[in-house]
Amino acid sequence: MLKTYDLQGQFKDVVKKFSSRKTEISQQVNETVMQMIEDIEKNGDQAIMKYCYELDGYRMEGPQDFIVSKQEILDGVTSVGKDFMRILERTKEQLIDFHQHQVDRSWSIYKENGVMMGQIVRGLEKVALYVPGGTATYPSTVMMNAIPAKLAGVKELIIITPVKADGKVNPSILAAAYVCGIERIYKVGGAHGVAGVAIGTNMLPKVDKIVGPGNIYVATAKKCCYGRVDIDMIAGPSEVLIVADEKANPQYIAADLMSQAEHDKLASAILVTTSQSLIEQVNVELQKQMPFLSRADIIESSLTNYGGAFLVDSIEEAFQVSNEFAPEHLEVLVENPMNTLPLIHNAGSIFLGEYTPEPLGDYMSGTNHVLPTGGTAKFYSALGVYDFVKYSSYSYYPKQVLQTFKDDVMTFANKEGLDGHANSIAVRFKEDESCDKVK
Ligand code: NAD
Repeated sequence: MLKTYDLQGQFKDVVKKFSSRKTEISQQVNETVMQMIEDIEKNGDQAIMKYCYELDGYRMEGPQDFIVSKQEILDGVTSVGKDFMRILERTKEQLIDFHQHQVDRSWSIYKENGVMMGQIVRGLEKVALYVPGGTATYPSTVMMNAIPAKLAGVKELIIITPVKADGKVNPSILAAAYVCGIERIYKVGGAHGVAGVAIGTNMLPKVDKIVGPGNIYVATAKKCCYGRVDIDMIAGPSEVLIVADEKANPQYIAADLMSQAEHDKLASAILVTTSQSLIEQVNVELQKQMPFLSRADIIESSLTNYGGAFLVDSIEEAFQVSNEFAPEHLEVLVENPMNTLPLIHNAGSIFLGEYTPEPLGDYMSGTNHVLPTGGTAKFYSALGVYDFVKYSSYSYYPKQVLQTFKDDVMTFANKEGLDGHANSIAVRFKEDESCDKVK
C-alpha cells in the first residue's frame, strides 16, 4: 500500500525525507580499496592475480588468462541464440537512432581581420566499461554505455568484468559486446579491476575513463581513482515518479511503480496526482498484481519505506513536486502529455503517455538508461555521446591583430603581477618598439 501525503502546497520537507536514500561508503571499505590500489601500484599484475584468486576464486596461470578469447566471444553469441541476437541488434539500432543526434561537430570561425578560432571535438582514446559479475547480468547496460562511446569515436573500448573459478563470462554479456564491436574483454573486476585500468599494468591498458555500474567496492575504487582517470557518475538506488491525472489507468500505474521498486529495497516509486480516487484504485491494483511477481518481498519493502502517493491541487503543482524530486525516471500519464514538457525542469529521462512505460526505456526505446539518481538530475544529465569526448579550442592571430591587443593584454598581465606574461607579448614587438613597456 502506498502511504498518501496530502501536500496542501507544502512539499519541500516531504521531498527531502525521500531524497535521503544513499549507500554510504564505510571507512573500512575505503581503507580496503586504498590498500588494494597501493598494492597494484607497487606490484602490478602480481597483485591483480592475487586479488582475482582471493576474492573471486579465479586462478590465473599467465597472460592468456586475463583476456576473453575470440572463440569464447563467438561461443557466447551461439549460446544466447538467434532471437536474442536479433533483439540486441534491434536495441543497437534504436540506441544509434537516438544517440547519433548527440554527436557534436568541430567548428571554426574566420574573421575579416585574419583571426581564426574554433573547437575540435575528439573521442577519448581509451575507455573501460565495468560490467558487474554478480548474479544479475545486464547486457542492456553494456549497450547503453558502448553505443554512445562508439558514436563519440572512442578508439579503444574495453570491458572489465570479474569471473569466478570457472573463468567464464556470462554469454549474454559476450553477445552484447560482440554486437557493439567490443573485442577486448578482461576477466578482471572488482576494485582491483578498476585500479588496474586506472593505473595500467603489463596486462591491463591504462585508460582515460572508467564507466559502468558496480557494487560498493567498485564504486569506491572509481571514486578513489578519479583524477588519474575520468569516471561516470556513481549511481544510487533507482527511482520513478509518475505524474497522473484522474483519467490515468491505475493498472498501468501500479505495474510501473512496481517495475522500479523490484530493483532494490532502497528504490523509490512515487505517484503524484490530483485524484484521491486514483490513489485508492492504484492501491487495489498493487495488491492484485504484486503476488504474481517473483520479487514481491523487495517491492513490498521498497514501496513501504520509500514509496508514496502525493495528493496535489493541480497538474502544475504536480510538476513543482516532481521538479523538487528531480527523479531519475519521470512518467507523465495525463491528457496531452506532450504539452507538459515546458513544466518539467529536472528529470533524468521523461516517459510521455501510457504506451511509453519506463521499462521500454530500460531496454529499447533508444534513450539511455544510465541516469542521474537521488535528486542529482538537478545538475547531471543522462549518459550520452558527450560523456566520451573532449574539446580542444584553437585560435590563430596575425601580428597586426595581436598588435591591437598588445597594450591591453600587457596591462591585464601586469595587474595580475605576471610580468612574464606581459613580456611574452612585448618581445614580439621588440623591433617595433622598446621592450621597456613590459613594466
Ligand atoms: P560487482 O562486479 O560490482 O562486484 C563483484 C566484485 O566485488 C567481486 O568480483 C569482488 O572482486 C569484489 N568484492 C566483493 N567483496 C569484496 C571484499 N570484501 N573486498 C574487496 N572486494 C570485494 O558485482 P555485484 O557485487 O553483483 O554488484 C553489482 C552491482 O551493480 C549491484 O549493486 C547492482 O545493483 C549494480 N548494477 C547496477 C546497474 C545499473 O544499471 N544501475 C546495472 C547492473 C548492476
